[in-house]
Amino acid sequence: MKKIAVLTSGGDAPGMNTAIRAVVRRGIFRGLDVCGVKNGYKGLIDGNFVSMSLGSVGDIIHRGGTILQSTRCEEFKTVKGQQRALKEVEKEGIDGLIVIGGDGSFKGARKLTIKGLPAIGIPGTIDNDIAGTEYTIGFDTAVNTAVEAIDKIRDTAASHERTYVIEVMGRDAGDIALWAGMCAGAESIIIPEAHHDVEDVIDRIKQGSKRGKMHSIIVVAEGVGKGTEIGNMIKEKAGFDTKVAILGHLQRGGAPSAYDRMMSSQMGAKAVDLMVEGEKGVMVGLKNGRLIHTSFEEAVKESHMIDLSLYHLARSLSI
Ligand code: ATP
Repeated sequence: MKKIAVLTSGGDAPGMNTAIRAVVRRGIFRGLDVCGVKNGYKGLIDGNFVSMSLGSVGDIIHRGGTILQSTRCEEFKTVKGQQRALKEVEKEGIDGLIVIGGDGSFKGARKLTIKGLPAIGIPGTIDNDIAGTEYTIGFDTAVNTAVEAIDKIRDTAASHERTYVIEVMGRDAGDIALWAGMCAGAESIIIPEAHHDVEDVIDRIKQGSKRGKMHSIIVVAEGVGKGTEIGNMIKEKAGFDTKVAILGHLQRGGAPSAYDRMMSSQMGAKAVDLMVEGEKGVMVGLKNGRLIHTSFEEAVKESHMIDLSLYHLARSLSI
């Protein structure tokens, strides 16, 4: 193994830059040439490679987004697209590829590995929704961003005795909603993994109001449906002054938290070490607080599990 490439793919996440830095610096430390691929799999098809040096990843450890850019590339899902990518990889003399992204990106990386290019994955998505790992890069920063925003909304909710429905990201997973709701003291948290009922939400608001609560915060995961619909239902059924806030893409930006920087640095270095040791077709992950690796097949096959004990705890703490 002489030369490796690194790319970011799918939705961006805070900490991707820190992971790129770790891959490049660890790769050079281990005696490899490292190049970056611009625009994810599209760049692989277009042969859009940039040589990476120790200095090229200077001053990015704290920056959100990804200096390599990221795209979703339909062409790469086809055999023809993958063959075009492999031709460019061969021309460039690349022996291995490190992919920072979500489960879609690992399906692509698995196909490249089967076709002869050893690939290793690093889980990068704010959603924390990949089965083969308890943690994905960007989750902690996104939760902190959501909590900070909810704290601010709580101030104005209290001043006007309002109910606020706050929709957070997470795709089909409720992790961001659960963590942000728990850490911001939401009265109700609505996630796809647990049964929900607007009557129960209204009941909890009424109980709080009886003992003098000035405001209510309901955190809704985007995977459940539209926050506006839930807000309208609460307004219509109970007549509360209800506002809706959709936090949206601000959860994808910002400087990575210390925890995300720590995870990105460790996972980036681990991916390089695995590649040097001859491993391929695996994703780096975290299990029981330790770095592990799982085959792409397993990582994308199992379904992601949320910790429902946290959900029940949050309910019991916000009565
Ligand atoms: P996020 O969780 O942020 O959405 P992701 O990696 O799951 O990240 P996707 O859009 O699903 O995001 O996948 C990223 C890219 O990976 C796709 O645009 C495509 O190029 C490639 N890809 C996805 N699925 C496949 C597949 N089945 N075969 C080959 N390539 C794939």
